[in-house]
Amino acid sequence: MGNRPLLNRRLAGMGTTIFAEMSALATATGSINLGQGFPDTDGPASVARAAADAVLNGRGNQYPPGPGIPELRAAIAEHQQRFHGLSYDPDTEVLVTAGATEAIAATLLALLEPGDEVIALEPFYDSYAACIAMAGATRRPLTLRAPDFRPDLDELRTLITPRTRLLLINTPHNPTGTVLTADELAAIAALAVEHDLLVVTDEVYEHLVFGATHHPIAALPGMRERTVSISSAGKTFSFTGWKVGWVTANPALVTAVRTAKQYLTYVSAGPFQYAVAEALRLPDSYFDGFRADLLRKRDLLVDGLTAAGFRVFTPEGTYFITTDITPLGEKDGIEFCRALPERCGVVAIPNAVFYDNTEAGRSLVRFTFCKQEAVINEAIERLSKLRKR
Ligand code: PMP
Ligand code: GLN
Repeated sequence: MGNRPLLNRRLAGMGTTIFAEMSALATATGSINLGQGFPDTDGPASVARAAADAVLNGRGNQYPPGPGIPELRAAIAEHQQRFHGLSYDPDTEVLVTAGATEAIAATLLALLEPGDEVIALEPFYDSYAACIAMAGATRRPLTLRAPDFRPDLDELRTLITPRTRLLLINTPHNPTGTVLTADELAAIAALAVEHDLLVVTDEVYEHLVFGATHHPIAALPGMRERTVSISSAGKTFSFTGWKVGWVTANPALVTAVRTAKQYLTYVSAGPFQYAVAEALRLPDSYFDGFRADLLRKRDLLVDGLTAAGFRVFTPEGTYFITTDITPLGEKDGIEFCRALPERCGVVAIPNAVFYDNTEAGRSLVRFTFCKQEAVINEAIERLSKLRKR
């Protein structure tokens, strides 16, 4: 094997994901984990029951169809119509994946050639960088900067080159909580049409918007035929361990993504697909209640972090809050997060790892509020020790 590194150069330096690292640190130190975004309360019991029943009744225990079970594809199409007024043919325009993570991987592996450039909103969700790299493409960040974390659309125009193939957006945006406005999306769409670019949109937090409105870019003129929309059941139904996600797009795009997907996992877990089909058909009261619960928790943690001395950027969407640690006399989010469990028994995520321009994210730290109120209150109590006297 000689001196050649085992990990290929596309993945060199990608190490362990920050979420795995920080959740392991939380377990090892017995800290409250406000790092990795997973709820500490499971989703609706009726949906859990549907999964258990499917297993016990032999539904989905053997390989389900590659594109996903017809019941789930129909439910995904109904959901897109019901919430976004978008109509997709469940047979040719919907693909079920192993979470949004596989949808992202399959989409990028299917659509990119080595040497292509991808413009993505920075900070980027960690798997984007890895998947762009695995596809042999290059990422070009459009940096969302504090304090507003809005995209600079003039800058976007300057990033487009003859090699640009694809714009990768994420709204509501993890980790900043930015929800792209109708005007911002219209400007992005106009550039995509003008330069004939594909758009991949990660909308896993589509139901978690507070005050703002979530707009799917696929609904804009000229976008349907060039957009791959991605979402997942994990966040919306609080079953992040089930890993059921999906892609909606026109038949040619779905066919391309499915070609890659079938050699990644072939299919995703069968019984959970039956349960997610039921979940997607829950009444509006479920979605409203879910949002209202998280809004209360957002406000609780925003107030607590502010009182603890952080500069807090209140998110319009997602279940994450980005903060700046500078007022605490701190500069480096990575060092701060590594020390935080020892100092106060709380785990958070340093936003710097989601940036190529690390300086723009150096002092930023993300906390999640998808936890029980008592847990959030205890974390706030512990973090109040940080306040400079
Ligand atoms: N995209 C974003 C922006 C996320 O925050 C996450 C984490 N849930 C994912 C994709 C991955 O979703 P899933 O767990 O369904 O693979
Ligand atoms: N999406 C989750 C977050 O941003 C993490 C999921 C994962 O660990 N891959 O915290």
